[in-house]
Amino acid sequence: MSEQQHAEILVALSDIDLSILRLQKQVDELPHKAQIMDVRQRARELEVRAQQVQKMAHESARTLKLLSDETELNETQIAQVQATLDKSSEYRETAALVAEMEMLAHRKAKLEEDSLVQMEKQEKVATVEAQVAGVARKLAQEEQAYTEAYRQVGGKLKQDIADLEHARAALVAGLPKAMAERYTKALKTKAGIGAAHLTGNQCSGCHGTLSEGQLAKLQEGPPVGECPNCNRLLVTTGSEKPQAEE
Ligand SMILES: [Zn+2]
Repeated sequence: MSEQQHAEILVALSDIDLSILRLQKQVDELPHKAQIMDVRQRARELEVRAQQVQKMAHESARTLKLLSDETELNETQIAQVQATLDKSSEYRETAALVAEMEMLAHRKAKLEEDSLVQMEKQEKVATVEAQVAGVARKLAQEEQAYTEAYRQVGGKLKQDIADLEHARAALVAGLPKAMAERYTKALKTKAGIGAAHLTGNQCSGCHGTLSEGQLAKLQEGPPVGECPNCNRLLVTTGSEKPQAEE
């Protein structure tokens, strides 16, 4: 292959690599990615809330169990005192038993009241628990929808990138090994531009203006030279075209 053909390959390769870079940027900036991160963050915050609510539910259930146990004991005691009272005929004993009965009845009323309060609390906690679970389901659905959209749009872009990668591999194969390696190295280390071309007296890679002497030397040289500023491969012929936008 002639040096002129190498120059043309470098120009075509630069165009393809620029397109790949832009597509990759689009993939990275897909809005779904940020949306997925946002939904995950909200889910994490909700999980903290869910744990708090669960703890409240456990505490409420525990308190109700204690109240229920004490109510049972209270009822047994009332029954016992009542049985003793039924058999008692002695005045002082009866008076003491009645007093104890009153105390137990008072405690019974208090236990009923406390149980009611606790049951109301338990209901409220259950309502909040159901709300939290509902929001969690909604967030999971949202994440799934965003992930699906990301897969579809991102998949199309990635396919386009793969097609371009295929085309660039064919072009790279047409270059001398050393030139291909130099191009690839510059592509990675020099802002995604592996080879530059001359636009007037400017290098498209570093946008440096060449002196008349440098320009004359390049134009006398082979179609693929080197930019004296950025040291990129510099296509000096047949590549006059508008400056690529950054
Ligand atoms: Zn340059």
